[in-house]
Amino acid sequence: MGVGRWRVWRGLASWVERPLPDASANSQGTVTNAQTPNAQRPTRNAERTTPNAQRRTPNAHVTAAPPKRDFIRELVVEDVATDRFGRSPATRFPPEPNGYLHIGHAKSICLNFGIAREFDGRCNLRFDDTNPTTEDVRYVESIQNDVRWLGFDWDGLFYASDYFERLYEIAELLVSKGKAYVDSQTDEEIRQNRGTVTTAGVDSPYRDRSVDENLDLLRRMKAGEFPDGAHVLRAKIDMAHPNMIMRDTLLLRIRHAHHYRRGDEWCIYPLYDFAHGLSDALEGITRSLCTLEFKDNREIYDWLVQEAGFENPPIQIEFARLELDYTVLSKRKLLRLVNEGFVSGWDDPRMPTIAGIRRRGVTPEGLRNFAEAIGVARKPARTELATFEHYVRDDLNMRVPRVMCVVNPLKVVLTNYPEGAGEELEASYYPHDVPLTGSRLVPFSREIYIERDDFMENPPKKFFRLAPGREVRLRYGYFITCIDVVKDSAGEIVELRCTYDPATRGGDAPDGRKVQGTIHWVSARHALDCELRLYDKLFTVPDPDDLPDGQEFTDVLNPSSLVTVPNAKIEPSVAADPVGTRYQFERTGYFMSDTVDSRPGKLVFNRTVTLRDTWAKVKERG
Ligand code: ATP
Ligand code: MG
Repeated sequence: MGVGRWRVWRGLASWVERPLPDASANSQGTVTNAQTPNAQRPTRNAERTTPNAQRRTPNAHVTAAPPKRDFIRELVVEDVATDRFGRSPATRFPPEPNGYLHIGHAKSICLNFGIAREFDGRCNLRFDDTNPTTEDVRYVESIQNDVRWLGFDWDGLFYASDYFERLYEIAELLVSKGKAYVDSQTDEEIRQNRGTVTTAGVDSPYRDRSVDENLDLLRRMKAGEFPDGAHVLRAKIDMAHPNMIMRDTLLLRIRHAHHYRRGDEWCIYPLYDFAHGLSDALEGITRSLCTLEFKDNREIYDWLVQEAGFENPPIQIEFARLELDYTVLSKRKLLRLVNEGFVSGWDDPRMPTIAGIRRRGVTPEGLRNFAEAIGVARKPARTELATFEHYVRDDLNMRVPRVMCVVNPLKVVLTNYPEGAGEELEASYYPHDVPLTGSRLVPFSREIYIERDDFMENPPKKFFRLAPGREVRLRYGYFITCIDVVKDSAGEIVELRCTYDPATRGGDAPDGRKVQGTIHWVSARHALDCELRLYDKLFTVPDPDDLPDGQEFTDVLNPSSLVTVPNAKIEPSVAADPVGTRYQFERTGYFMSDTVDSRPGKLVFNRTVTLRDTWAKVKERG
């Protein structure tokens, strides 16, 4: 009897990470097994999925609610009411394609795209690709993929590198207006003459070049006549400005480098301050949302859009970046983890990257709910990892089927069960408080595996599971009583001998007797071998960016962030599920089959998150 007997197709249910090849054919969640003997045959289906807003959540405090009115949304409401910009709200998400997106970017994506959605505006995806040396097309692709996976689509797809011509025109305009000049100091001289927060800078000896000389030099910079570093274009503002960024801000620099999109067309490249606000203005953005570290850049942002002559230019608003405990959210640091081999790649499930989180099994809905729940604020704050896990778990709870997998198997022989016999027990996929239906048949036989931890030879008082002479319930099955413990020569328990009570099929005793424990199990003969990857925090300290002198973040990596269990035992119903299928392994945690390494005959499951909700405890404490 093949496992196909228990296998039923479901539709493109959301617990499958990778769409089925013929998803459309199955989109009704129909049973495609032509041999299905009767309509009552157990199935797992998605038909009763209740839309987000109506579904019943076990925790009232996490019910999906419309996004909170934060200070940014308040401003947008006002913009709309007063028609402040003369156009509908427009935002953008502006990643630099020099690494994969992480969970902090997810916050920014949800904010920017969310606002566009809520206010009937638009949101662009713009690659801030002005640095030829660190950018790569593979990052461009991964970023688009990640934004889509999160559930958003852009109104416009733009590249700052497409604005090089426009930015150059603005550079000439500034020079003509006497608002920019070519400086020929060395990098070192420029740095030294900038002054400090407490002392004014020193004017460059080239500051008073004539417009004609500046124009001539700028054109020759563009034409490639000078080596890297020979000249830079600077805004002519004030070398004594209290805001250091305003001390003749650098606008364009010479870099004879190949750009991944523009090739060798350009040898002058705009700096962040020059490119960013003007790109926003060129796209008609209204509110340019960015993280707090750009607060001081707002002044040059305003100066440039104004000097360039934009009417109703965009306005920058800063919010606190996401800082999550036990992880780092900086592409530079994440790149080091990848390059130095601390993780298997950008999509290692321990990474806080969207690719890593996705491979681990987190749903886009879980991530979005988290982003919405933490909201946006003006003040920096750290977010507990437990908060993230809470939203991940809360979403999975409502959508994934429950199956049985034994992590650390201990064989149990049911001495009074006929040898060679077997049967199928109906097991529901979902608990009562989840508005989904469906069940499968699990094979039962004389030899089963239970979790080693579910047996104790000399149990303490509060241990309610199996022990010598003690009776427990097998989930969906029978009551069993332990009558003997078999050990090897080293004294290690290798097998339990138990009896089962045939009258308790389905889990209740006709005589009304109760048992205190219910444990999960799999039939030894039918179970499939599988590998489990148990993931934990990547770092041992809450803030790996804040360490004592002499230590760096790679010194506080958690050596047990991945524990591999090579030979767990799982019920056969999962055999033909596509990779990327999510489950709750009863009493163990949420898992997803690995989209890279799992295949029929060699199943691999990643633990997305454990079952315990530590956040509830955190809340109690708080
Ligand atoms: P990193 O420090 O990871 O390199 P970055 O700010 O350099 O991040 P960008 O590609 O420039 O990365 O970021 C794109 C957008 O995402 C920016 O608007 C930035 O403000 C936002 N962003 C980056 N990190 C976070 C974070 N931790 N929380 C919220 N928004 C973030
Ligand atoms: Mg950046």
